[in-house]
Amino acid sequence: MTKNPTKTEAGAESCDLCIIGAGAAGLNALFVASEYLGKDDRVVLIERRDRPGGMWTDVYDYARLHQPHPSFTVGDMKWNWSKPAEYLATGAEVASHLTRCYRLLREKIELVELFGHSVTACSETLSGTGATARVECRDESGNTRIIEAKRVIKATGYDVRTADPLALSSTKVVSTTPERLSREVGFHTKTPVYVVGGGKTGMDTAYNLLTRGGGRSVTLINGKGTVFAKREKFFPGGVRRWWSGTLLSTLFRDQALLFDGANEDACFQNFRRKSAVSIGNRNEAWFYGILSGEERDVIGYGHDGVINDYLEDVVDGPHGPEMVLRNGTRRLVPEGSAFVNCTGHLLRRSHAYEPYLSQGGAILAVTPRSMVHFLSTASAYFLTHLFFRGKLRDLPLYEFDGEAIIAKKPRLYHMSLMSLTYMNLLVMMRALPFSVFDRCGLDIDRLYPLHRRALALIDLKLNGGNYLRHCRNALDRMRALHGVRCGPLPAAEARSEDADISVPEERPAPAGTIAKAA
Ligand SMILES: Cc1cc2nc3c(=O)[nH]c(=O)nc-3n(C[C@H](O)[C@H](O)[C@H](O)COP(=O)(O)OP(=O)(O)OC[C@H]3O[C@@H](n4cnc5c(N)ncnc54)[C@H](O)[C@@H]3O)c2cc1C
Repeated sequence: MTKNPTKTEAGAESCDLCIIGAGAAGLNALFVASEYLGKDDRVVLIERRDRPGGMWTDVYDYARLHQPHPSFTVGDMKWNWSKPAEYLATGAEVASHLTRCYRLLREKIELVELFGHSVTACSETLSGTGATARVECRDESGNTRIIEAKRVIKATGYDVRTADPLALSSTKVVSTTPERLSREVGFHTKTPVYVVGGGKTGMDTAYNLLTRGGGRSVTLINGKGTVFAKREKFFPGGVRRWWSGTLLSTLFRDQALLFDGANEDACFQNFRRKSAVSIGNRNEAWFYGILSGEERDVIGYGHDGVINDYLEDVVDGPHGPEMVLRNGTRRLVPEGSAFVNCTGHLLRRSHAYEPYLSQGGAILAVTPRSMVHFLSTASAYFLTHLFFRGKLRDLPLYEFDGEAIIAKKPRLYHMSLMSLTYMNLLVMMRALPFSVFDRCGLDIDRLYPLHRRALALIDLKLNGGNYLRHCRNALDRMRALHGVRCGPLPAAEARSEDADISVPEERPAPAGTIAKAA
């Protein structure tokens, strides 16, 4: 149902809730909000793109989910097909699923859709009667609208943008991106390709070039090299899940318990040794990507070389185009070669800091500057529940300044974010009722049968308090060592000073809800 918002006396439009961003995070916020709002409550949804789905609406055409598709969803909405759980949906399939979820949600609530509108300002006004928010947005023609909202959920999440081609000096090579690759180079040509960036997008690109065309030269420019979680270890296929495979919540628990605030390198080595696959010999980074043994073999045996360095430029030398690497060396490349910018989609741009809850409590932000979980989808789901239940202000969740911490040391970011995610989920499990976890379709551990998840629950019942204290001490130590923002919001900190971090328990959460993971 779509309607116009009511006009206030000053000409602004008023609503009960304004959600900014209609990516997977925004849709999860909308899903949860729809459970708390009444029929007469007005919701305004503002989205820069012209449709829902976020990055999945314009992701490169060979992108696939990293994770089994059922748990990449909105709330507990099911995919309307019966493919095996381990099937990795394509980008187009994900976009279509998110659109369908959005259409179903739209039936439930009174919604004003402002697609093609960018939010240019969002602020909170404090008064004697409480806090409200004012949002300013603009369409492509520059028309401005002002929305006055009782509450705002700023669910811009990871705000993933398509990459630009690298600015290369040579006129004799093609500089392109994953989004343009099919069009500008094609998969069935013999053009030599240099894949710049060794993360999951780089692996997707190399894999597709090697399997869809054949006979072409593919070189990886891999930086420090990346490891990937072993797909078969965490997501075994079919009935094997009854007895084999590791729950992602177990990985998070084990890594979180190993992390002491100062040993991120040792934690990474542990992860690499036990749980990872990689291409080449030097692999120093992990960006939460997942790769199968088959993908690793195709890329590992098929490539023409791995360069463990960073590309600075390609210039036209006396004998043809030459790559210039960060270590100063130059290498000739065949004329006409293509360079694909796969240097990463996530956390590439900086945003201003804002806490996940504003001072007056009217604005909830799902942002990499104040993370509570490594996934924006799960953050939006749980934080929106806590927001509507009025529990967010007092809950001793830790916020995590992802952008600042990754800039300081990527490995510190990846290892400590596992502890943070694990700890915050323990805190939320004690504050939210069973039904919230029961309806969380984002829980990837649901891939496993109940008896496997029940063991995880028993462990938590017995040891959850100790796990929580361990994580809190580790994160406090990290904050002291590195001077990074990682701790309770100031208001919650003041209230919980000297108090034990454990919070009132409503009812136990179901098994396997620890890592809502990708
Ligand atoms: C190739 C690839 C594969 C991935 N696979 C997985 C996976 O398997 N599992 C997983 O969990 N994650 C995966 N991810 C991460 C994925 O990006 C997120 O999980 C999820 O899609 C991000 O959703 P989001 O809503 O946070 O961000 P986005 O999809 O970027 O949505 C944010 C939305 O906010 C809008 N917006 C931003 N600023 C404004 C503004 N000022 N005004 C109005 N609108 C605004 C944007 O237009 C955008 O539509 C993958 C990422 C990539 C690149």
